[in-house]
Amino acid sequence: MKRDLARLVDQTFDLVVIGGGIHGACVAWDAALRGLSVALVEQRDFGHATSANSLKIIHGGLRYVQDANLGRVRTMLEERSTWLRIAPHLVHVLPCLMPTFDQLSRSKAALSVALAINELMAYGRNEPADWQRRFPPGRIISRSECLSLLPGLAPTGVTGGAVWHDAQIYNSERLLLSLVLSAAEAGAAVANYVQATGFIYERENVGGVKAKDVLSGQEVEIRGRVVVNSTGAWTDAILRLLGGHALAPRFPLSIAMNLVTRQILPDYAVGLPARLAGKDGAGNGREPSQMLFIVPWRNYSLIGTVHRPYTGAPEAFTVPEALIEDMLIAVNRAYPPAELQRDDVCHVHAGFLPTTPGHGSAGRVKLMREGRVHDHLREDHIGGLITVVGVKYTTARKVAEKAVNLAVERLGRRARPCQTQGVPIWGGQIDRFDDFRARAITTRSLGLVPQTMDHLAYSYGSEYGQILDYVEEDPAWGQALTASTPIIRAEIVHAIRAEMARTLADVILRRTELGAGGRPDDACLQACADLMAAELGWEPARTNQEIANVLAAFPAVGRKPLVSMGVT
Ligand SMILES: Cc1cc2nc3c(=O)[nH]c(=O)nc-3n(C[C@H](O)[C@H](O)[C@H](O)COP(=O)(O)OP(=O)(O)OC[C@H]3O[C@@H](n4cnc5c(N)ncnc54)[C@H](O)[C@@H]3O)c2cc1C
Repeated sequence: MKRDLARLVDQTFDLVVIGGGIHGACVAWDAALRGLSVALVEQRDFGHATSANSLKIIHGGLRYVQDANLGRVRTMLEERSTWLRIAPHLVHVLPCLMPTFDQLSRSKAALSVALAINELMAYGRNEPADWQRRFPPGRIISRSECLSLLPGLAPTGVTGGAVWHDAQIYNSERLLLSLVLSAAEAGAAVANYVQATGFIYERENVGGVKAKDVLSGQEVEIRGRVVVNSTGAWTDAILRLLGGHALAPRFPLSIAMNLVTRQILPDYAVGLPARLAGKDGAGNGREPSQMLFIVPWRNYSLIGTVHRPYTGAPEAFTVPEALIEDMLIAVNRAYPPAELQRDDVCHVHAGFLPTTPGHGSAGRVKLMREGRVHDHLREDHIGGLITVVGVKYTTARKVAEKAVNLAVERLGRRARPCQTQGVPIWGGQIDRFDDFRARAITTRSLGLVPQTMDHLAYSYGSEYGQILDYVEEDPAWGQALTASTPIIRAEIVHAIRAEMARTLADVILRRTELGAGGRPDDACLQACADLMAAELGWEPARTNQEIANVLAAFPAVGRKPLVSMGVT
């Protein structure tokens, strides 16, 4: 995948996609697979914004059963199956557990009805091809079994528990990047660090975007018959670029936050009712209790998600220390054995989600429940422009399908039907993941240790051989970057040469797993920066600046600086 600005300007594309988050990546891939000519531009790096902040759960429909929205339940279940099918190396089955209580809405009876409906709606959920990965039926467990699975949980009011299965993304950054790679392989022209700065706009019709190459400062025009605005928190900012034709804001923003901490509960994603203290000033302690999930991921726990209204510019957001403290208090109250301290916080995920107008009282947020596709021709009499508003990583593929259906309609031409439900993404050509993983460890390992081979199988799937090719070329690239990580040098070279990594942050945070669980140690940062400097010809001042930029990406990390990466 090459960053080729000349390709962006020398043709008129069917589709120009602004925004390289999960929604933009899905739109670009879907459209390219249908045979449309596609350009995708991202102002910074692919997946740097909200998509980098996921709790990594691919939700089945259980939470929507309570809304009695059965259509939504079915969609979520179908999308969960789709992700497992098209990205078998990156999406895996996740056991979940929620205690039941002696309150009606959280009772055994309520949960058993919800599980039964979910079960009914989930028919056909298991892929016959991969019998090694199953979603077992949900079940209600006894009080004593629940308390043995959650030792130390305050037993008052606990009546039992509900166990079910969802899916989890092993590496959400690589999932997103694999979609971009897939789009590029299907013919899309993709580029990071290209910012849309305006529209080409004639006679109430959008005909492409004006854009700036953020790396060189060069201004370009990218012509397209249809432009898809999939810019997440920047949706309204993009619509304002229509100048005199500026459209009404689409939605108020909220922030959503997760903590990444040392691991508390290794076996299940556990949902516990918790009440935030409101020290951050948003809730004043009067908030109703919410469900906090403690999700095992590698050697860490992901804890969340907490929502707050937000009215500032996305770039101006900083993680509120008081909210971190509130979350820690809430988790420790909900599950006293956690005994989390501020130093146990290795990383904080914070991103933006769309809400429905009218939220804001006492820090409450009313999240938008479903993704939307806005047809500006119908809504605003502006042709050639579609806006995608996504609410979940889980449903991004489906929302993209709707957006591309509309684009094809607006283009007024024939195109292949959507194929993204069945075509494996880059690295996803795998029949049975467990067999594949075992084979990867025993064949063509070029002397790499099993832990490294395992990690390559998870991260790059069926394309892991591309990393081994570098090792064959130069065995020194087969060495781990430092003793504290299983990431090998070849991955960094590959990120630069084949995955459009331009900055140290791109490599640390989004191409490799060096920063996935928290701030890498100094030796690791330096070794990675030195390798990049050698590849890209950076001067020492640039190298130091790159390191400083990465450190700034971990502003809210506790006083315990080093967390070594763990690979399951
Ligand atoms: C803390 C948290 C936890 C979550 N957990 C889950 C979960 O467990 N499961 C789940 O399904 N969902 C989860 N979500 C929701 C999910 O992460 C989001 O719905 C999704 O990532 C949004 O993707 P997006 O593509 O719409 O936005 P983004 O990822 O923000 O992408 C928009 C992109 O547009 C780019 N852009 C903006 N302006 C321009 C411009 N002028 N030119 C070029 N590019 C531009 C931005 O740089 C950005 O990269 C979570 C969200 C948060 C915040």
